Amino acid sequence: MGATILIVEDEADIADLIAARLRSEGYDVHVAVDGPSGVDRCEALGPDLVILDLMLPGLDGLEVCRRIQQRGRVPVIMVTAKDDEADMVVGLGVGADDYLTKPFSPRELVARVAALLRRVNDERPPPDRLILGDVVLDVGQRRASRNGERIHLTPTEFDLIRALALADGAVLSRAQLLLEVWGYRDGAGARTVDSHVRAVRRKLGEDLIRTVHSVGYALDLSGDGEVSGHEASVVDAGSVDGGSGEARR
Ligand code: CA
Repeated sequence: MGATILIVEDEADIADLIAARLRSEGYDVHVAVDGPSGVDRCEALGPDLVILDLMLPGLDGLEVCRRIQQRGRVPVIMVTAKDDEADMVVGLGVGADDYLTKPFSPRELVARVAALLRRVNDERPPPDRLILGDVVLDVGQRRASRNGERIHLTPTEFDLIRALALADGAVLSRAQLLLEVWGYRDGAGARTVDSHVRAVRRKLGEDLIRTVHSVGYALDLSGDGEVSGHEASVVDAGSVDGGSGEARR
């Protein structure tokens, strides 16, 4: 299941339309139809993102935004009926991250949602320690150990296994790994990725990284060769060309 999104919108037609579209993108979508229930649902759900209409019965969107932000950082896309309303809301600085003016296309909304979720993920500090079965990566010290025993990895090998670990089981294409680990330098290609994956497997365990045929690599923590969960979630590598490992979408 993708990120959890709460829609606070009193116009049922609009709420239904955007909820259906976001669900079709794989998000876990919930709807509240007025201000007070928006605040309550937000507290109960702890959503990853809130789409908040400005004009709402009970409490307006400004007040809902203030209240939900008091309880912790929640990314908010504020929906307004007119451009000048959006200007006004921006001026008040209530803590919305983005603004959309009605009418907007579902496609536009989906793009804004994806962009905001990406931005928020980038803000989050990476964890200090990544635990991959019996392998532990100490990110701060850049050290790897297996069953408590220090394993020497080269800096590139460490960056490679860290990138796969942070993807949390999602498949990374060779192109994406080239971007994240090598930053395109030295004209590294798909074969470079493959040889480093082989080295990491040799050092940390053959089963730790699984090959996803003609796509790339993913972390495999199931230990039984079965693929758990994220099989379909190929991370978009944009227009990067990584030869045989080119991303499929
Ligand atoms: Ca409304």
